[in-house]
Formats: sequence, structure tokens, C-alpha cells
Amino acid sequence: MSNKILITPKSFKNYKHKAYPLIEAQGYEIIENNLGRTMTESEIINYAKQGVVGIIIGVDPLSATVLEQCKDLIAISKYGVGMDNIDLKKANDLGIKVKSALGANNISVAELAISLMFSMARNIPKNVTSVKNGSWDRVIGCELTGKKLGLIGGGQIGKEVAKRACGLEMSVTIYDPYFSDSEFLSKYQITQCLNINEILSNSDFISLHVPITNETKHMINDHAFSLMKPSTILINTSRGELVDEEALYKALSNALIKGAAQDVFSSEPPPKDNKLLKLDNFILTSHIGAFTNEAVEKMAMVSTHNLLEMLA
Ligand code: NAD
Repeated sequence: MSNKILITPKSFKNYKHKAYPLIEAQGYEIIENNLGRTMTESEIINYAKQGVVGIIIGVDPLSATVLEQCKDLIAISKYGVGMDNIDLKKANDLGIKVKSALGANNISVAELAISLMFSMARNIPKNVTSVKNGSWDRVIGCELTGKKLGLIGGGQIGKEVAKRACGLEMSVTIYDPYFSDSEFLSKYQITQCLNINEILSNSDFISLHVPITNETKHMINDHAFSLMKPSTILINTSRGELVDEEALYKALSNALIKGAAQDVFSSEPPPKDNKLLKLDNFILTSHIGAFTNEAVEKMAMVSTHNLLEMLA
């Protein structure tokens, strides 16, 4: 019988006591991902090829091949916002509905972006490591107040970063060709810039908040780094592929920019011997942007409601 729902994100389980009763009340049987990690394409196919009408998906791959094999699939509900792991065109061709949990994790990701700025400005990770190794050395830092923050992408997360940065008295500029919220700009006294090169060359901090598309892939490349100031700090909490990592390595090791902090990488986890991980002026967190109690609860509940709505 086609009444099963596959739930893949590991952290969804933290709120299963709230979400599962809603799903079960509609007569659906729940299949959990009990692998303790992201599922592979063949594992998803194995679980979902028959009888699965809905999937609540994390970052596991829903490629065209997977979607074609999931014969009974009606709806996909994204536990989060980044849709790059779902072949949206194929889903559309197959008549499968798709919805993201918009607005569920924007505050958590924005807070992480701000904390990465502080971490880099005050060299916190490096200082903590050196103190734990018995040293009492200090490396001089800088304040955020008064610094220029260039935001690439002014959507749900970019706006939350902008609001917080204004509270820190940073001077905020947004580059986003599709942005048209003039009320927001005037409320927070934020400027909009229509030329990405201006943001790249004028900002003290640059924070990326765009989806990965053909247009944005490797948007931060050799050319972009050549425009940045030697004091610039790059923050990427969006997607690893936005930054050309070879160009980033060159920029960091040749002091073209001061530092970079990322929550994402082109392949996650990165290989242990990746050369960027050996640089003092590069820090990487393990895709924790949306991993807070608050965001996890919102993502679980919003993705559950979205799925049930699409299946109704
Ligand atoms: P959003 O769709 O609300 O905003 C994206 C913005 O990017 C839009 O305003 C859009 O106009 C703009 N944009 C698109 N193409 C652009 C371009 N070429 N140049 C400049 N701007 C462009 O998305 P969001 O919720 O703000 O998410 C932003 C990113 O954060 C996504 O990549 C998402 O995958 C990522 N994300 C990461 C985590 C994490 O855990 N680290 C969690 C959630 C989202």
C-alpha cells in the first residue's frame, strides 16, 4: 500500500515526539533513516522505490535517477532551504510537488555568520588553540564597529545578517540583482550596490548568502580575490561551490585577503589532508548553520506541515 513517508535528516529525530503524531494521525507509516549519516542515492532508492508517497529530505541526493525510481512519490518536503540536492526540473516533469522550509533557519545561519566574523576579527580559534597548548601569546584583532560589510545575497538569511550587523554599527551594503525591498533598505539604512566588483573591492567583510546556481558557482574566484583588500575577511555559510577553493588557497597563502571562515565546503566532510585546513587564516565549521535547537524544531515542524499540506 502506498502510504509511507521517508524521513532522512538525522536531527529530525530530536522533535519526532511532536512531528510523528501529526503524520501518523493522517494514516501514514514512517520510515526513518537509521544509518546515522546522509543517505546515498541507492539507499534512498532501496527505501523509497515502492509505497513511499512523501519524503522529508535533508541534504541527501534526490537526483533524476532517484526520482525516476521512486514510483509512488507525490511530494518532497525540504528540511531546510537549500534545494541544490533535489533535481527540481525532474521533479516538475514527474509532477512531484516540492516545498522548502522557508524562514525556519534564517536566524540561526545569520547568527553563525556574525559569530564567524567575530571569530576571525579577534582570531578566537587560533588563540584558544595556542592557550590550550600552553602559550599566552596575543595576536592583535579588529573591531566590527564601523567596518564595511558587503552582503552578496539579500534573501531570508542575508537580511537577518544585515539587521544584526546594523546593530553592531557596521556599514552594510547588499549586492543582489533581484533585491527590491526599498523599505528594508531605508529602515536599516543599508545601501544597495548594483555592481559586484564594488562590493568586492570596498568591503572589510564579505558574507555570501546566495543559492548555488550556474550563475553563482565559483563567483568568488581568482578575479574576485584580486579585487579584494588585503584586510578583507570572507565568510561563507551558504554553499562550498560558491568559492573556487584553489583560488581561495592562493588568496589566503599569498595574503591577498586576511582570512576566510566557512561553514560549508565543496565536499563535506573535506578530505583530512585538504591544504586549506592547514592554513591558520582559514576556519571551517561542519555545516552547523541551521543546527540549533530552535532551527531544528522549526525545520521539523515546518517540513512536516508542508508535506502533509502537499499530500492532502
Ligand atoms: P533566499 O532564497 O532567501 O535568498 C537568496 C538570495 O540570493 C535572493 O535574494 C536572491 O535574489 C539572491 N541571488 C540569487 N542569485 C544571485 C546572484 N547571482 N547574485 C546575488 N544575489 C543573488 O535564500 P536564503 O534562505 O537566504 O539562503 C541563502 C543560502 O544559505 C543558500 O545557499 C542556502 O543553501 C544556504 N543555507 C545554508 C545553511 C547552513 O547550514 N550553512 C542553512 C540554510 C541555508
